[in-house]
Amino acid sequence: MNNTILSELQWSAEAGALTFKDVRYLLIRPEPVIQFQKAVEAEVGFERAGELLYEGGFVGGQLSGRRYKEVFGLSDREAVEFMCRMGAQIGWGRFRLIEMDSKARRLTVEVDRSPFAELYGGGAAGGVCHLIRGVLAGLANGAFAAEVRAVEPRCLARGDACCRFEVVPAA
Ligand SMILES: [Zn+2]
Repeated sequence: MNNTILSELQWSAEAGALTFKDVRYLLIRPEPVIQFQKAVEAEVGFERAGELLYEGGFVGGQLSGRRYKEVFGLSDREAVEFMCRMGAQIGWGRFRLIEMDSKARRLTVEVDRSPFAELYGGGAAGGVCHLIRGVLAGLANGAFAAEVRAVEPRCLARGDACCRFEVVPAA
């Protein structure tokens, strides 16, 4: 299968920068990210650390959803489908769009082999893929033009077969 993100990624040797459609990306091993996550958990607790990482992902999802809708002239649904394909292409695991209901403002996505869960290790107290959860919520926030919240009821890091993300209207 063709990886259009990688094949269209631009590299500037001068700037030491990777960009896709003028959006900067960086390649990073997952270990530093997970190390940081665990350090934050040790400081502020599992729940709060999750919220903070979620907020970071949220901004990314909002910005990317908006940007790629504009660049490719996509509908909201197409933008979500694009982001799911992109997730796999940038190494965030294999994304499956399970449900997108714009009327009910519900988005459900399952992800196989999340690098965040794989590197976190087993026995987690709950879902640990807060960046993915945040990205999907940010994306849904734009697509539904509504406040949303997102949960990860299943996660590889707590022994489930895959990670599952459910975005629903906020309260
Ligand atoms: Zn997970």
